[in-house]
Amino acid sequence: MIENDEQAKNAIIENIEMYNKSEDAKKLLTIILRLCEKYSFVENQTYPRPSHPIKEKREDPYYTLIAIILSLRTTLENETKAVRSFIGKYKSISEVLNADENEMIGVIKVAGMPQKKAQTIIKLSEYIQKYYNGNIWNAKKESVSKTREELLKMPGVGDKSADCMLELGFDMPSMVVDINVFRVASRIFGEKWAENPNFTNKEQIKAVKDRLENSLPRDYLTYQIAHTMILLQGKHICKSKCKCENCFITDCCNFYKEKNKSDDKNKKYEQLELTDFIDECR
Ligand code: SF4
Repeated sequence: MIENDEQAKNAIIENIEMYNKSEDAKKLLTIILRLCEKYSFVENQTYPRPSHPIKEKREDPYYTLIAIILSLRTTLENETKAVRSFIGKYKSISEVLNADENEMIGVIKVAGMPQKKAQTIIKLSEYIQKYYNGNIWNAKKESVSKTREELLKMPGVGDKSADCMLELGFDMPSMVVDINVFRVASRIFGEKWAENPNFTNKEQIKAVKDRLENSLPRDYLTYQIAHTMILLQGKHICKSKCKCENCFITDCCNFYKEKNKSDDKNKKYEQLELTDFIDECR
């Protein structure tokens, strides 16, 4: 587990030195290192990992899964508050199974959609109790794909939550492609849909996920750092309407290079037209 930002940076530096597989790999790792200098990894990681004060809780994947459910459609700040209250109130899965639904709604209210989230948490806990004897570690299998299958059977767990759980809960390399990661990576790699990325298009999402995974060493910590950094870049700079003028990775971004190539060409055409016009007037 990464405990501080320096460790995150050093892990990427080590990868740059050791992993020289392709141009994509070199470029992506360079970008991630630059983003690590800009954003804090530990302050932005999904709660309760890695900074929660109670070690047992931050290392218990059951609470990571609860955090993933609570994080849906809310800010990191509200997610953190909700997970803290949840952990403070329910000390184990047995306590969740005996919980009063209305009371739980109050405990997690700050995360938004509390009724839906409380129902999901209760159903999920019942499922873990029934099929894994109350111990979520029993859902972890020998490979990423087999564990993913187990996770996708759980109530309330979709593709993105399963990837989050693999990467953050079970320490298995599976890149989480959320809307921010999808947009930023599409632009960095210069995918043909980079101008208008469509987050409902499963083929595009899969292509981005594959390209990210194939460009990085299969190591869950590298995936965690990469995911967090690319996501932060999407939240702050590379938004739907990208702020390229404030971006510090323009030299590594294919979308930016292409866009400016065509802008340069347009400028040349504009100059040409103006010269032609002046010539005609002479
Ligand atoms: S240069 Fe522009 S498009 Fe590329 S990553 Fe930066 S903000 Fe996004």
